[in-house]
Amino acid sequence: MVVEELNKGPEQLKNEVIAGGWCVSCGACVELCPYIKAVKDRVAVVHSCGLNSGHCYAVCPRTFTDYNKLAPDYENSQTDGAIGSYMSITQARATEQKIKELGQYGGVVSALLIESMGNNEAKEVLLTDYDGIYPRWLIGRNSEDILSSAGSKYAVCPGLSGLNQALRKDIEQIDIVGRPCQVVALRKMINYSEVEGREKVGLIIGLFCFWGLDYSIYDYLKQEYNITRIDKADIPKDAGLTVSTDQGTITLSLEETRSFIRSGCYSCVDSTSELADISVGSTELDPKWCTVIVRTKKGEDVLNKAIDSGLIETKPYPDELKTALSESALNKKKRVLGNETDDEGPAINSSYLKITESAARLIGMEG
Ligand SMILES: Cc1cc2nc3c(=O)[nH]c(=O)nc-3n(C[C@H](O)[C@H](O)[C@H](O)COP(=O)(O)OP(=O)(O)OC[C@H]3O[C@@H](n4cnc5c(N)ncnc54)[C@H](O)[C@@H]3O)c2cc1C
Ligand code: SF4
Ligand code: SF4
Repeated sequence: MVVEELNKGPEQLKNEVIAGGWCVSCGACVELCPYIKAVKDRVAVVHSCGLNSGHCYAVCPRTFTDYNKLAPDYENSQTDGAIGSYMSITQARATEQKIKELGQYGGVVSALLIESMGNNEAKEVLLTDYDGIYPRWLIGRNSEDILSSAGSKYAVCPGLSGLNQALRKDIEQIDIVGRPCQVVALRKMINYSEVEGREKVGLIIGLFCFWGLDYSIYDYLKQEYNITRIDKADIPKDAGLTVSTDQGTITLSLEETRSFIRSGCYSCVDSTSELADISVGSTELDPKWCTVIVRTKKGEDVLNKAIDSGLIETKPYPDELKTALSESALNKKKRVLGNETDDEGPAINSSYLKITESAARLIGMEG
């Protein structure tokens, strides 16, 4: 059921979100109808359908977003204002050498996807791969696809446009890996829209994300370093971006990297995919392990199955890591809700947000 605030159409999406510079290229509105398209990370309403109300506006993570109403079915979870509700938090990594090598950190996302996919040919998974130097979405059908897409592409690829196409096909289920903004769009699609095929959305794996880069970074790398291929990228702690390419390893300073942050990311309060079934990020301690936050029963089941089948191993999560993660997540919320923009940074928009009551209490404001 669409809530009143979301009862608007593509003209408002164009004027309020895209023209305002808030679009974070999640792709949720793209290909929902023939009139919204993406070229690389640029999203445009190419023709007006004239409707005053549309799914495109309702699913956008930069239109009215109430975290209290979008929450999935939590079971036995504890409420946490900084990182969202969760059942458990642990360190984990894949056990197979190939997954460890190809994965960004512990290869946990790839291992979970392989576990969830099993041998079911009627199942698909939404992935993000490289097309030369630019990230692009890919619909995976087997573990080879999952492994060839392993590794983080630190940019705002409009992957959910691939989901919109996949949902119209004759498939049983599609699992999704997404950035927090994409997970919000998915929950809005499930809760507030009548998008065809939305019941086929399966496991939602959310990544941690503190910012995403604009595709102009790839144009810059191409121009400055003549690269034609990217093999891997990383954001080492307190540093910028390291990119392994066909022209060798290129390192950008933090300052240089920050100049390519997508402007809409400055208005994002969610760094741990609070609405996912299971969220995965780095540990900031050991690059061979991941932080895994289990949020729903669905997330718990897939992690347990992967442990039982020997695909994933876990170890306890130290208190000091949890404290550091909560602090970073809370700081991101405070910056946005307090409109703490720096002089050179883009404007911040928090007017679309209704954060969880527990987050509001932590920050000392009304939800
Ligand atoms: C833009 C971005 C910013 C991030 N920032 C942080 C951060 O600040 N701190 C932190 O702890 N972790 C961050 N992460 C998450 C981290 O980089 C790893 O993705 C996560 O730890 C999972 O590691 P893994 O080894 O299990 O992943 P893998 O097993 O290698 O799987 C990674 C999965 O991510 C998908 N993917 C890759 N790029 C994208 C993308 N742009 N959009 C959507 N899906 C994608 C791939 O399809 C693949 O399935 C970020 C990820 C992205 C994409
Ligand atoms: S944020 Fe997503 S849904 Fe909103 S305009 Fe951009 S691509 Fe479309
Ligand atoms: S910072 Fe937020 S809006 Fe930007 S890519 Fe990450 S989750 Fe999306």
